[in-house]
Amino acid sequence: MYRQARWDEPLIIDRSQPGKVGHLPMRPSEVEMNTSGNVMDLVPSALHRNGPPPLPEVSEPEVVRHFVRLSQENYSPDLGIYPLGSCTMKYNPKSSELAVQTAKLEKLHPEQDESTIQGILALMFHLERMLAEITGMSRMTLQPAAGAHGEYLGCLITRSFHRSKNELEQRTEMIVPDSAHGTNPASAAMAGFKVVVVPSNSEGMVDLEELANVAGPRTAGLMITNPNTLGIFERNILEIARIIHKAGGLLYYDGANFNPLLGKVRPGDMGFDILHLNLHKTFATPHGGGGPGAGPVGVTRSLEKFLPVPIVEFDGKNYYYNYNVPDSIGKIRSFHGNIGILARAYAYILNLGADGLKMVAETAVLNTNYVLSKVLAKGQYQLPFAPQRKHEFVLSAKGLSNSTGIRAMDLAKRMLDRGVHAPTTYFPQIVDEALMVEVPETESLQDLDHFVDVLTSVFEEAQSNPEAVRSAPHFTSVTRIDDVKASHPKTLTLHWHGASSTQKRVSHQEPIAQVNY
Ligand SMILES: *Cc1c(COP(=O)(O)O)cnc(C)c1O
Repeated sequence: MYRQARWDEPLIIDRSQPGKVGHLPMRPSEVEMNTSGNVMDLVPSALHRNGPPPLPEVSEPEVVRHFVRLSQENYSPDLGIYPLGSCTMKYNPKSSELAVQTAKLEKLHPEQDESTIQGILALMFHLERMLAEITGMSRMTLQPAAGAHGEYLGCLITRSFHRSKNELEQRTEMIVPDSAHGTNPASAAMAGFKVVVVPSNSEGMVDLEELANVAGPRTAGLMITNPNTLGIFERNILEIARIIHKAGGLLYYDGANFNPLLGKVRPGDMGFDILHLNLHKTFATPHGGGGPGAGPVGVTRSLEKFLPVPIVEFDGKNYYYNYNVPDSIGKIRSFHGNIGILARAYAYILNLGADGLKMVAETAVLNTNYVLSKVLAKGQYQLPFAPQRKHEFVLSAKGLSNSTGIRAMDLAKRMLDRGVHAPTTYFPQIVDEALMVEVPETESLQDLDHFVDVLTSVFEEAQSNPEAVRSAPHFTSVTRIDDVKASHPKTLTLHWHGASSTQKRVSHQEPIAQVNY
């Protein structure tokens, strides 16, 4: 039985008492010590702060206990299985964390002279080479800070490509399959393209006839992920590439979930021109939680000239920034990207080696299919579309919903009571009452069996005791919330000013809909 901690923990600002300190008084900062003259002269006077910043004044034990209590009310891949489809929430090895927690990395500044940062330049140079080799691309930029950021960059490169051929005005359409991740059409639209949706066929793959119908002189490109969000490998990918290239478009690969292909298949060999990876999914940084990410973008040789500047080069002796990229789209982010995330990925790849990466892919696909076959053997959920899956699968609870009124979201909430994270719900939209399950490589056989038991027993319970499922979760620190209200920008106040602490925290007794912000 699982019971999540419930603390009536106030905001840390409400624990503040004047004069309390949690550390030894600080020495003069290194900035002051190393700068001749007054460093404040460099800051415009309008930006000078009057008095100390309004930070909470608390002791060290108060800080530690505050955050440990909050962490006990949370769930993470360090606590148990996290089968959130399309998110690749795997356990991230501590070796990658240790590799980056070094003063050598933390104290670097992007404005330092190249001669003093040869180490990090070498890391960026070699990481780029490794990612290019893994994906079959010619060059990569490490700048983008997220997957969607990489997609947007890919769309800008697509624009530059068509502009260079004097075809930008005519090529206004970006094609995306109806199974696409929502960021794909959003990125294309932000970059100024009209989004054209191509439907899936009865097997859950891009319908080739429909694709041939929409591809033409207005096509700028196609954005697609493979295996797609149903976990199905688009086995017609070479034909898809042929259709798009023949129409004069570019093929964009959404590589956010690269787990199933690592070391096995390369998008470059499937005919893709541009792609992004999510290092904060596949390469040892947790996805979500609001932390930084990294979405490196790779291109074929003919598109290299559009990459953002600078790129890192090696002249045989020194590593250096190259700003001389003739048709560069410019910069996509300040400095060189989220270096900490890049360094974790570098450590992860070196730790695993080529064979280890292959084993990640094989184990992730095996684990997912093990869970799928055990669940299907029970005959409860439906599995729309073809049965072959790679890293994830999408179950439908439509039959259950029709007969009992219990919906996919109710099942997902009840699973939380069993100490696992729930699958993704209601995505992709082409599956009714969808539960999208991705089982990464880091789970043991016991974890997999427990998860199968959770998936199947909540289904049974929905039939025998629907009320317990409809009102779930019961044993978590926060119980059922009003999802619509929770994401409504007008009702959420994301700062602590002006509200009392009992109002500011979502109490576990009250659903969020009743909290007055
Ligand atoms: C997560 C994901 C993205 C977006 O990545 P972010 O880093 O969250 O912007 C894009 N496509 C797919 C398939 C994804 O799973």
